[in-house]
Amino acid sequence: MSTITAATLHFPSPVPPELGRPVEVAPGILWLRLALPFQLNHINVYLIEDGAGWAILDTGINDARSRAWWESVLAGPLADRRPTRLICTHFHPDHVGLAGWLTQRCGIELTMSRTEYLGTHFHRRWAEPEEIEAHTAYYAACGLDDASIGALLERDIGYRWLTTDLPHTYRRVASGDGLSIGGRRFEVLTGGGHSPEMMMLYCREENLFLAADQVLAKISPNVSVWPHEPQGDPLGDFLRTLAELNGAVAEDAFVLAAHNLPFVGLHARIAELTKHHDQRCQDILDACAAAPMLPAEIVPLLFPRKLDAHQTSFAFGETLAHVNYMLRRGWMLEDVGNDGRRRVRPA
Ligand SMILES: [Zn+2]
Repeated sequence: MSTITAATLHFPSPVPPELGRPVEVAPGILWLRLALPFQLNHINVYLIEDGAGWAILDTGINDARSRAWWESVLAGPLADRRPTRLICTHFHPDHVGLAGWLTQRCGIELTMSRTEYLGTHFHRRWAEPEEIEAHTAYYAACGLDDASIGALLERDIGYRWLTTDLPHTYRRVASGDGLSIGGRRFEVLTGGGHSPEMMMLYCREENLFLAADQVLAKISPNVSVWPHEPQGDPLGDFLRTLAELNGAVAEDAFVLAAHNLPFVGLHARIAELTKHHDQRCQDILDACAAAPMLPAEIVPLLFPRKLDAHQTSFAFGETLAHVNYMLRRGWMLEDVGNDGRRRVRPA
């Protein structure tokens, strides 16, 4: 995840709401901002008018602060108009963290895509000793030192504490479905790369696009290789999704995303994000031109500033995403040395 500033976007609501205090951002849509204990310090959650109540889109992470904000929202603005259902866009803890707690607390159903629902269960059960062993070997083969491996494993295991146990049943939605919320009809779109089957909602009549983490105004969404899928091509998935959105959603749609400010200028932003990843690929090719490199050696060249453990894990996964993207397309080659470590070079 890195900051790439968009010059061409328009921000109809340039001032974010106070933490925990929802404001109307479009007719019948409330914008609620909750804090996150990371460098990316907030998430935007949306409440969509749904008959006599509100549908909730995403939850914030499982911590005391977020629960307290939800309690105050439930006792305040939502006291007379109760939550009707919870929709979670993807398995990341800032989006699904309180899903178990909220669905129980409010007696409502969870709506998710299947991969994201199952993915939440999968990541919550991490990690058994053999799994930690396999992941450690993989990280070491990429050239990571013990301290960085420790930080990555800690992040993976920490998922459990940032989330709550999901309800045992859910309502599945998939790409191409329609979803009626109140008087609105949303098209369900799904995207890959940031997470495997992230749900986005598009109301064509009102030109409203709930983009989750696929297209953000200020930062490029994290696109990472995960150790259980070491040859994965999340960057290929991510760029394919961006190209699809370019055709499926109008340029002047009002984009309500999960981080940064809501904006208008979707196609311009898609072009910027695509260019950013092209540039990253070129930087990696240049870096390895003189001699093959371990993926871990490339990380500081792409992310020269000092990174904490949380950022290092994202930077490493992101670097691998670009490497795998180019390996798969034959732009790079990989050699596994006698030391068992994988070095990459331009083809
Ligand atoms: Zn996410």
